[in-house]
Amino acid sequence: MSEIEIKNVFKSYPVGNKEEFVALKDINLTFEKGELVAVVGESGSGKSTLMNLIGGLDSQFEGDILIESVNLRGQTDKMLDKYRKNKVGFVFQSFNLIPHLSVLDNVAVALTLSNVSEKEKVEKASALLARLGLEKMLKRKPNQLSGGQKQRVAIARALINDPDIILADEPTGALDSGTTAQILEILKEIADDGKLVIMVTHSEKVAAISSRVVQISDGKIVGDRKNENYQKGETSELVKNSSKAEKQHLSFASAIKLAFHNMWTNKVKNFLMAFGVAISISSMILMLSFGSGLTDYVTNVASDYTNPLVVPVSKVSENMMSPVSSAWTDEEIENLKTEMNTYLSNNNQDFRVEDENIERGFTMINISGSLASVSFSKDGEEVTQNLFCLYTTPPTYNETNLIEGDFSGQSEAMFNSYLYELLGEEAIGQTLLVTVSYGGVVIEETVTVTGIVDTSVFDQILCMYIDYDYLNSLVVEQGEELQPTDLYVVTDTEQQANVLKEFISNSSNYSGSMEERLANMFSEMSSTISIALAIIAGISLIVSAIMILTVLYMSVSERTKEIGVLKAIGARRKDIRSIFVSESFLVGLFSGIVGIIFSLISYGIFVAVFNALLGFAPLALRWFYFALAIGLSLLISMLSGLYPAAKAAKMDPVESLRRE
Ligand code: ADP
Ligand code: MG
Repeated sequence: MSEIEIKNVFKSYPVGNKEEFVALKDINLTFEKGELVAVVGESGSGKSTLMNLIGGLDSQFEGDILIESVNLRGQTDKMLDKYRKNKVGFVFQSFNLIPHLSVLDNVAVALTLSNVSEKEKVEKASALLARLGLEKMLKRKPNQLSGGQKQRVAIARALINDPDIILADEPTGALDSGTTAQILEILKEIADDGKLVIMVTHSEKVAAISSRVVQISDGKIVGDRKNENYQKGETSELVKNSSKAEKQHLSFASAIKLAFHNMWTNKVKNFLMAFGVAISISSMILMLSFGSGLTDYVTNVASDYTNPLVVPVSKVSENMMSPVSSAWTDEEIENLKTEMNTYLSNNNQDFRVEDENIERGFTMINISGSLASVSFSKDGEEVTQNLFCLYTTPPTYNETNLIEGDFSGQSEAMFNSYLYELLGEEAIGQTLLVTVSYGGVVIEETVTVTGIVDTSVFDQILCMYIDYDYLNSLVVEQGEELQPTDLYVVTDTEQQANVLKEFISNSSNYSGSMEERLANMFSEMSSTISIALAIIAGISLIVSAIMILTVLYMSVSERTKEIGVLKAIGARRKDIRSIFVSESFLVGLFSGIVGIIFSLISYGIFVAVFNALLGFAPLALRWFYFALAIGLSLLISMLSGLYPAAKAAKMDPVESLRRE
């Protein structure tokens, strides 16, 4: 059985429209192990075409090529990949080393494709390189080597899987005569070890040292003679103790490692890309934290002030967005009572709203700053401070609404925690002069601080809480009457309260408490803002995806040669795809992490700015946002990496190796 039998092989290339160029015509050849064959012929005669067919890089031909009786024609890609990986080794004129890998890794990569352990890989590759005289070059990059050294690395790569056949297409074409002799000596040693070496050459001298010269012209064999003077040398065992055991495939970890290596080679480009993606990822996280921050705020505000038996009612004000409600007239209160009682009886409730069920409240928001102020002496000086809000203490409040102290009564008042900033920790017990303008009269009253109310928010402005009846008595003293802005209907059971709340939410004239209205206003705002932000974040994610696609696509084009080399040494489509998919995975992972860092930084800044401006920050981070960020960034990068990876996997090895 011959090692290779070529029978009636024709090969044609399509050129132009429907025309074909016949590059090989009826080739018949047999090759045996131990031969050192020189294939000679003019440029364009079909030598490389023949080598590519023998090497299983091209399976589109007519006739038969039998490798140990197995026909290459009509084989599956899977078998051809395996054949290239285990049975043949390629050496090219232009070396075709992978520029970003070290000498050692260029050789070891052929073993990586077989998932050989790291230790075994390093041992085998360095031993082989040492036998080729490259023991001091292991860490170097290809561009730090001479031509002869590069070709020796390429020979080591071809030999590392201990193939039976070495195909060398003009291996000395780029070398000077001294180096040519060295490389030929090595190829001869390989043949003398019992392998079949077929090399293409132009040089008569090279042909002269071979055991056989095959001459090809215009795609036909025109000469085939044995060299009678050929001296077989000693067996040198260039490749030792190679295990021919069934080899495995590229592992996930190795694909990631290769991908990482490549990304590191292009760190600036990849970092800039990740930076871009990270910006969209972090804007998405910020958008989400705004959404949840506003929701938190709203639920806090709404839940802080609930007493299940009390139903707050306000009139819907002209301005929907205004948190300040307008005052109730006695007539309006009567109407409310009637409407509520009708609703209650329609809903089979025995309970009726009477005057004693209605408590009154008053809210004044002093936006102009001219309606209310407090004065006190501090360090011997008289200080006046605007009151931003004046509230009567709602009946819904209980101990949990107080940070410190007690509810206030006659000649007393409570304030929010901003009072600490004005009076210090010992605020309770101190006295203040309160000045309030109401309906054309001015009230001046000295009050004692009895408690500090927890407002959760608004702690950068001063708010005062005072008893309604007490405030009313002060207004009446001045000959005016206090009109309530808020009403509280006190029920006996929660069921009654719920029916009344239902009445309010069905009514277009009434709404719930001040806080509830504030909450509605915020949730309205927050949903508008969230939608706008979501659209912006969505667009920026699409832009990032296109950017990743472009960068990876360009990287595939740049690395055409490398892909060809990997295929020549037996990489399957799958392997090429997993290397490129791993690269998009790394881009996604890195972008996600950088995005999280960006969002933490900008979150900090936003919180600080909002606290300074509003006294609260409507932002809340949730841990799952980070998982979402990583997940989304992986998703968009993997999705945009699919197409370039598929393109790389599909590349024709002959075409890609032909590229200059
Ligand atoms: P050699 O290696 O002997 O210089 P090749 O085998 O590369 O020659 O090419 C043989 C002939 O086939 C040349 O005329 C070349 O132009 C043609 N050829 C090679 N590859 C292709 C291809 N992919 N498409 C069309 N023609 C091709
Ligand atoms: Mg050629």
